[in-house]
Amino acid sequence: MPTQRNQHAIVIGGSIAGLLAARVLSEQFERVTIVDRDQLPLTADPRRGVPQSVQPHVLYAKGYRILEELFPGIGETLTAAGAIPFDWARDFLFFQAGKWTPRTEAPTDLKSFTCTRPLLESVIRQWVSKLANVEFLQQRKVIGLLGDRSFIQGIRFQEGSLSAQLVVDASGRSSQLPKWLEAFGLTPPRSTVVDPGLGYATRRYRIPLKNQPDGKILLVSQEPPDQPRLGYLAQVEADQWIATLGGYGQDYPPNDHEGFLRFAQSLDDPAFYQAIVESEPLSEVQCHRATVNRLYHYEAVQMPKGLIAIGDSVCALCPIYGQGMTVSALSALVLRRWLEQSKTSQDFQKQLARNNAFPWSLATGFDSKFPTTKGAIAPNRIGKLFQAYADRLIICAQKDVNVHLEFLQMAHMLKSPSVLLSPRLVMKALVGS
Ligand SMILES: Cc1cc2nc3c(=O)[nH]c(=O)nc-3n(C[C@H](O)[C@H](O)[C@H](O)COP(=O)(O)OP(=O)(O)OC[C@H]3O[C@@H](n4cnc5c(N)ncnc54)[C@H](O)[C@@H]3O)c2cc1C
Repeated sequence: MPTQRNQHAIVIGGSIAGLLAARVLSEQFERVTIVDRDQLPLTADPRRGVPQSVQPHVLYAKGYRILEELFPGIGETLTAAGAIPFDWARDFLFFQAGKWTPRTEAPTDLKSFTCTRPLLESVIRQWVSKLANVEFLQQRKVIGLLGDRSFIQGIRFQEGSLSAQLVVDASGRSSQLPKWLEAFGLTPPRSTVVDPGLGYATRRYRIPLKNQPDGKILLVSQEPPDQPRLGYLAQVEADQWIATLGGYGQDYPPNDHEGFLRFAQSLDDPAFYQAIVESEPLSEVQCHRATVNRLYHYEAVQMPKGLIAIGDSVCALCPIYGQGMTVSALSALVLRRWLEQSKTSQDFQKQLARNNAFPWSLATGFDSKFPTTKGAIAPNRIGKLFQAYADRLIICAQKDVNVHLEFLQMAHMLKSPSVLLSPRLVMKALVGS
């Protein structure tokens, strides 16, 4: 029987973090309500509340594994909806530091899907809507919390209120939670912001019958400190490419046809430009500049009972490293463990902070290599040593597919960063250099 504590949970925000949190909450609560300001589309279409949904979204192997754990068989639904199965070691063309990284011929366990963000979100939403004790409350903008500084008892929206034993803020980058806490006289969390000044410009193309790169995703990478530009091209459903240009330090890619092509031509390798130059565009160029890394330190403030925060509302990462949805998936597992432990809200935020530490340091560490990044985090002596060592390993990875695989496992959050310090890799870095 559910306890008094476990009768009703509310999740603010029905995007990736909110949906996955709701899935986990449904194991412990009699009723879970996902509240979103949007009318959630029945189809795989972009929506206003998730402005980044027209931009490319990669799903890391760890993120996909967690999706399968939470929704066994979701891979089949994704395939049926048109998502393309993808092996990160075999199907990913990666141009970095002046060279294409080697790929494996044999399949690996670095499996995931490539598709548009709306398709992925709609498939997850479909699975969540099948849960008997989860309901959606749509077109309701949450404007505050019910309760007092020690105990949150629900949410307020313009049309009324809703009470619950637990409120989970998953309202993303635009979260108002710090202000809501302040309204109760509580100290809002401090934030750390690292702003790379990165802008995206994205366009959809019909995949041509010829001139296709020999892979499903292609990335011509930025190269700090001197090359701020990147190009990303991915196959998605409906025989389309999603093609994105990026520029660091406010070197924003333009949104007109000619400018888009010129910017593509300026990348370190012509593969991206050659793929799109004669392909048929299927959309306008859509720009996005909300890319700052922002971390709210909820773990360091007094959180009232009955309230926690998760996803981008706590830790929003520069998108080029493709981590956000996987971090949300990992956070859902943190939530599951916390629910089993019956600990305080602050304990949850502390556990979440530990979970977010690696992706945060990876994104801000790479961004900080550009001199234009505002709030850049300067590495200490050990950090500098590690960076120099990792740079050597990157050179090795360009010749040695096994080193590349170790990097991928770490980037996909399947292995801890300490894997890079194994004696075997240290030897390779020394010998390779
Ligand atoms: C340009 C860009 C590209 C990205 N690319 C990748 C990628 O390649 N791979 C990856 O893993 N991640 C990527 N991300 C990150 C990814 O989008 C997020 O990490 C992921 O969506 C999880 O975010 P979230 O669910 O916490 O918040 P969001 O996705 O922002 O969703 C917030 C939800 O809350 C709702 N909401 C907000 N305020 C209220 C309110 N007051 N009341 C009710 N509802 C509210 C919104 O309508 C929305 O549904 C990218 C992000 C950006 C900006």
